[in-house]
Amino acid sequence: MKIRGRLMIAFLIMTLFPIAITLLSTQIILSRQREMLNHYYNITSENTSTIDILANPFNILHNITFEDYRRLKKVVDSNPDKLLDKKFLATENARLQKKESFLIVVENGSYFYIGSQKGLEKLSYLPLTNEYNQKYDYVTCIDHKSSCLIKEASFFFSNKTQGQFFIVTNYSKLVPRWTASIREMVIAFLIILLTTAIILVLWIYESIVRPINILRIATMQIGQGNLDTPISSTSSDEIGQLCHDFDEMRIRLKDMIEKSIASDENTREIISSISHDLKTPVTAIKGYTEGIIDGVADTPEKQKKYLQTIYAKANDITYLIDELSLFSKVERNSLAYNFIPVNLNDYFTDCISDVSLDLESKNISVEYINTTDKATNVLVDTEQLKRVIHNIIDNAAKYMDKPKGHITIRITDVEPVPAEPPLYRQIKDDGTDLIPQSPPEEFVQVEITDNGPGIDEKDLPHIFERFFRADASRNSSKRGSGIGLSIVKLIITEHGGEIWAESEKDAGSSFYFTLRKETLQDNKEIGGSYE
Ligand code: ADP
Repeated sequence: MKIRGRLMIAFLIMTLFPIAITLLSTQIILSRQREMLNHYYNITSENTSTIDILANPFNILHNITFEDYRRLKKVVDSNPDKLLDKKFLATENARLQKKESFLIVVENGSYFYIGSQKGLEKLSYLPLTNEYNQKYDYVTCIDHKSSCLIKEASFFFSNKTQGQFFIVTNYSKLVPRWTASIREMVIAFLIILLTTAIILVLWIYESIVRPINILRIATMQIGQGNLDTPISSTSSDEIGQLCHDFDEMRIRLKDMIEKSIASDENTREIISSISHDLKTPVTAIKGYTEGIIDGVADTPEKQKKYLQTIYAKANDITYLIDELSLFSKVERNSLAYNFIPVNLNDYFTDCISDVSLDLESKNISVEYINTTDKATNVLVDTEQLKRVIHNIIDNAAKYMDKPKGHITIRITDVEPVPAEPPLYRQIKDDGTDLIPQSPPEEFVQVEITDNGPGIDEKDLPHIFERFFRADASRNSSKRGSGIGLSIVKLIITEHGGEIWAESEKDAGSSFYFTLRKETLQDNKEIGGSYE
């Protein structure tokens, strides 16, 4: 999940979860509150709703004896003298006592009935008519000191004397309960808030801070040169992506360093190979020169032979130096390539005629088979490709061990491989591609086969490596540096082709390489210029 999504969820949890849990806990607290109200004041869910308990607690107080007050009021309206019936009053008072309340009846300014003497004594105030404005025939007031709600109604008895009744409700049990409920609700809300915050912090820590820490440690390790520890992250968010990119960077960095170390080792290997290959002819030159100086070559014939050998060895050195300088140019990519379209058939016919005389003198016949369209053009650097062909043919002639040598050059078409479909396409309104897909590239395959000694199975995979010479060749008198085929491979790769070899011991070797055909598009880009 993306970090944006996580933050949105965190926001929702942070707001909705505490609200939901708070509502639930409020409901639980209020239902306990209701039980308490029912227990002490006989208030049931029918006469008080949950919302009332929360929104208007004073109303509850008012409602506790509301029905009793109304009933007594009806009695005084229809038959006020009933309030002089002590038995009736005792029944009413008993009913009120169940609600932490009691009844007081006053007749002509003096107490006629007191439901609770103790309750009356606690009261600091009772709105008797003579103290109060007579025009109000009912009064509701609160006596703070004794925590009582007093409901009063004034009336006249049948003999015209002033009468009053009071219903006094002690709410002292209600207030601490109410305070306790508020306290419980605040505590519950704080616990919920704290729990939500802790869960969210842990969640965000796990999904953001921990992967960042892994990344920090990995960066430190990379800084200290340790590129072996993979940076693993299982999350698919931005940080997971960052870890993945970082790991790829680590792998590439490691690869580069390993390549650079390998290249250093290669350079050392090359220097040692060059010095070894140069040492052999130089030692020979030294030996033969000493032979002449010391007079070992004491006849003109011997001297001529010695000088011829010195000349041959010097030629070997020149050859080696030429190969080396060419190889370094090719490897450094400092060889300028000039790719031009040439007619495949004409080009190979020319190349073969260049070498056929020399081959004939070595008793090697050449066969040329071209099954491609004679008009086929290839995009090549003519000079470099000539170097490739000559090198392979030279090797075939050089290592030839049969009295009648034979070289076959066969050119065939390569089945075009359809190009990989693009990752995405831009399509015009008419459904055609905005950027037309480039047609598949077409290649021709050149095969040069000889009937020479063949190459050992174990040597075959290495023949394109620089300075590699099969043991058989190294131990033979054949001049060589082991660089030729590595140059050939570099040149073919630069042409966009591939090169490989097959061989059967004592039966011969086949070298294959591919060349890119000139397409219509190449033709347009080059402006249709042919050599
Ligand atoms: P070299 O200068 O030794 O010829 P190359 O790079 O041209 O170096 O060839 C590498 C090795 O491949 C040779 O030393 C030889 O052992 C082997 N090789 C190349 N071409 C042939 C061939 N036509 N027949 C037999 N062996 C060959």
